[in-house]
Amino acid sequence: MEEKIEQLKQEAANAVKQAVASIGDLNDIRVKYLGKKGELTTILRGLGQLSKEDRPRIGQIVNEARQQLEQLIAEKNEELRSAELQKRLGSEKIDVTLAGRRPARGHLHPLTLTLMEIKDIFMRMGFSVEEGPEIEKDYYNFEALNLPKDHPARDMQDSFYITEDILMRSQTSPVQARTMENHEPNSPIRMIAPGRVYRRDDYDATHSPMFTQIEGMVIDKGISLADLKGTLETFLKQIFGEKVKVRLRPSFFPFTEPSAEVDISCVMCKGAGCRVCKGTGWLEILGAGMIHPNVLRMSGYDPEKVSGFAFGMGVERITMLRYGIDDLRLFYDNDLRFLKQF
Ligand SMILES: [Zn+2]
Repeated sequence: MEEKIEQLKQEAANAVKQAVASIGDLNDIRVKYLGKKGELTTILRGLGQLSKEDRPRIGQIVNEARQQLEQLIAEKNEELRSAELQKRLGSEKIDVTLAGRRPARGHLHPLTLTLMEIKDIFMRMGFSVEEGPEIEKDYYNFEALNLPKDHPARDMQDSFYITEDILMRSQTSPVQARTMENHEPNSPIRMIAPGRVYRRDDYDATHSPMFTQIEGMVIDKGISLADLKGTLETFLKQIFGEKVKVRLRPSFFPFTEPSAEVDISCVMCKGAGCRVCKGTGWLEILGAGMIHPNVLRMSGYDPEKVSGFAFGMGVERITMLRYGIDDLRLFYDNDLRFLKQF
């Protein structure tokens, strides 16, 4: 009898160990050995036929075997359940995340991009960036720049006057005079002044009553035209590429002497001649010159001790040439179809 029980127990234990497929298999084993008509149950039921001496001993053995088997089945059951859970977690993965709604992000305006790059180039050459008011005194806008009242050159920049003596600045040059005034007389200066300027002008493909200018100035002992040319050439090659050629043509500005128009070889046709450069192969890009002694004197600098050069350029024009834009109004129309291209 004991052997029979031991054998059943082993058999059942092995069956449990091998029941790897499912919890259903495990149930079949439970029914087979422990169910109402299960093999161990049957032995337990037949105890009555045994002798009084054998009954408690065999009963105990069967109960122990039942308990051990119950425990084995419970352990296996737990093992299978957890395995099945892992399997389901692996296969039934549901992505509960919904693609986010990204807020529409704008980007910098093409003029701002060009402005930042220009500032960057000059800052690497040791220039500081100065700012001044857009509503300016006539004195700084004209007089301090060697343009006394009734000077004919004022007509070229006819501006918006707020009073007799105050106007929307027609150029960023007033920042030069203001910067000189903020320095000890004759101390060296290397600065650029970017900003908006205003002139009474048409609004067409190449003109606007408001546009963006960058003015620059260098003052120190022994500054010459060669410094001017070298600085501007370095700048223009970084903006338009190493291969661009630069030339200076004599010109006239009231605040510089001598004065020059600075041209670059046409970026569209590389100098061969095209519609953009009107067949000349050259593009006018900025104005420059050696600072007029009167301008230095007006701001307390001594032209006998120091000299300097100044230059000014339109940020719109440079941006148009870099990107091949043929209408200046596109910068101000706020048309996203245009702006998104940068
Ligand atoms: Zn050309």
